[in-house]
Amino acid sequence: MHSTAQNLDFLKRSVPQGVRVVAVSKTKPPSAIMEAYDAGHRLFGENRVQELLGKKDHLPGDIEWHLIGHLQSNKVKYIAPFISMIESVDSYRLLTVIDRESRKAGRVTDCLLQVHIAKEETKFGFSETELEDMLREPGLASLNNVRICGLMGMATFTDDTEIVRSEFRYLRGIFEKLKHGYFASRGYFRELSMGMSGDYLIAIEEGSTIVRVGSLIFGER
Ligand SMILES: *Cc1c(COP(=O)(O)O)cnc(C)c1O
Repeated sequence: MHSTAQNLDFLKRSVPQGVRVVAVSKTKPPSAIMEAYDAGHRLFGENRVQELLGKKDHLPGDIEWHLIGHLQSNKVKYIAPFISMIESVDSYRLLTVIDRESRKAGRVTDCLLQVHIAKEETKFGFSETELEDMLREPGLASLNNVRICGLMGMATFTDDTEIVRSEFRYLRGIFEKLKHGYFASRGYFRELSMGMSGDYLIAIEEGSTIVRVGSLIFGER
């Protein structure tokens, strides 16, 4: 057993400069988060709003929080005042709600569009066609309080690294197409969030800029 700080240190040695590590702290208590914080880490990810709100108030104010799980529209108002990034935007309607609540909070919220790349049925996210349709929504250009900074995806949960790699490569392809197409004049579209404890090294090889790592840092859930 290694400490959270040791795990984090080890992980960061294998992650190149320019790739950010979101320490996924879901199900872990504030004390575990503080171990990573005291080791200098500031970027954490939670997948549930209620859990995030419950922990946040017990923790330092300079933590950057990413929401990485499915977000219900009626919960957006609770996180709009402080969230650094919502990585799991999976519908146009949700984006419009984030825009509205961010305006009320006097903020512009950075968002990633979640793309469904895995074979599993249950995972949320846009298909490539849905993504293209979404970018044709007439109202999109007037959402001034959200910034679409890139894409997020989760690969199939499998030991077959070739499947995982091909899914990441597929997501990278969509990302590049949008970066040089729809988002060509928007320099902030540059984030590709892919890779978790089991597959972050493959994700990095395939062009990830953000990895979301939980169990490798905090231990099994
Ligand atoms: C839980 C979770 C992770 C981290 O998973 P680990 O396998 O523990 O690293 C990453 N991304 C999302 C969306 C998650 O829900």
